[in-house]
Amino acid sequence: MTISQDLFSRAQTSIPGGVNSPVRAFNGVGGTPLFITKAEGPFTYDADNNCYIDYVGSWGPMILGHNHPEIKQAVLAAVENGLSYGAPTEAEILMAEKVKELVPSIEKVRMVSSGTEATMSAIRLARGYTNRDKILKFEGCYHGHADSLLVKAGSGALTMGVPSSPGIPEDFAKHTLTVSFNNLDEVKAIFAQYPDEISCIIVEPVAGNMNCIPPEPGFLQGLRDVCDEHGAVLIFDEVMTGFRVALGGAQAYYDIQPDLTCLGKVIGGGMPVGAFGGKHAIMDYIAPVGPVYQAGTLSGNPIAMAAGLKALELLSAEGLHDELEAKSKALCEGFQQAADAAGIPLTTNFAGGMYGFFFTDAESVTSYQQATECDLERFKRFFHLMLEEGVYLAPSAFEAGFVSTMHSNEDIKNTIAAAQRAFAKL
Ligand code: PLP
Repeated sequence: MTISQDLFSRAQTSIPGGVNSPVRAFNGVGGTPLFITKAEGPFTYDADNNCYIDYVGSWGPMILGHNHPEIKQAVLAAVENGLSYGAPTEAEILMAEKVKELVPSIEKVRMVSSGTEATMSAIRLARGYTNRDKILKFEGCYHGHADSLLVKAGSGALTMGVPSSPGIPEDFAKHTLTVSFNNLDEVKAIFAQYPDEISCIIVEPVAGNMNCIPPEPGFLQGLRDVCDEHGAVLIFDEVMTGFRVALGGAQAYYDIQPDLTCLGKVIGGGMPVGAFGGKHAIMDYIAPVGPVYQAGTLSGNPIAMAAGLKALELLSAEGLHDELEAKSKALCEGFQQAADAAGIPLTTNFAGGMYGFFFTDAESVTSYQQATECDLERFKRFFHLMLEEGVYLAPSAFEAGFVSTMHSNEDIKNTIAAAQRAFAKL
């Protein structure tokens, strides 16, 4: 028995499923999750002292690699002054100013403590601002686990949502409409069906929770136009894409301005943080200036602000995002060539510092439907073969992969060589 296996069985007696967030349990790939003891640069180490080239990056925030010395230093310096005050600090202003500078569609921003809180609050705000109850989301997009957002499409497109978890009243879920990602016709049809009832569209501008699916040309602009036409709020959930796809997020990469943006993970440099912001006319609708209530004891936590500010400063380095994208591209091309050579049908997607690969005969994957039709059994075998090779991929076929500035060309080359050996065994 490995130490991870031992820890996992012990964990299961005190923690539901042995984990504090479901995807960590390896249900998507089978086997025992690795228990991590430390992480440095592009590497994570497990309790059995194995070292892995890590493409999970704490599910996104580690764009600068693990345990960056300058972020660590910023955290240690902040800790000297106490851990939390529940009162305003200058660091929160600095963070708000930095976010506004880097993401110009954000005129005002409110800090929260997770991505879930960011999207939940943005939805409440959009509903309060428009005085409409319905929201529109896309099948396969994940926006955290707030009740309104944990909803899947009903049978067939263009239907009212049904809860995707027990505990969510149907009366809540019925206000969540769900259509297919990258399908503008469905978006227009549902607005035609519910004119003046839809408060907002919430979208991952590059979908990262059904593997990695970038928007097709014109899709995001189409959403902008539909929202303008119907007086609905356009919300970009950039919890994953913010500061990763480009310094200004996917909205900069694709040059589309949303009304509200949700941010997360990255602006804490690895500490628990989220934020939502946008046009001040909308943002001034929240308490204490406006009527929509939103709050948080640990919001704007001084340690998280210190880590995040340093992370954003380092992420602002000239050319950093071009380099990140070059790494995603090299990885995708390497995987593609290795799969082609082994006769394994594969296709890849990438945008900035996020990427995905799909075991499929399809030439490209642009929809949730296609993502779910890929060869999931082959993915599972590939995942475990790569783990044996010392490469830690996301333990699910429906998650994007993440590169960091710390992944060297050598790391990428070694990963591709490992993939070549793994494909040969598939
Ligand atoms: N939105 C997106 C796009 C995400 O990927 C996630 C989490 O992965 C969330 C929201 C929820 O963030 P958190 O897990 O911090 O609540």
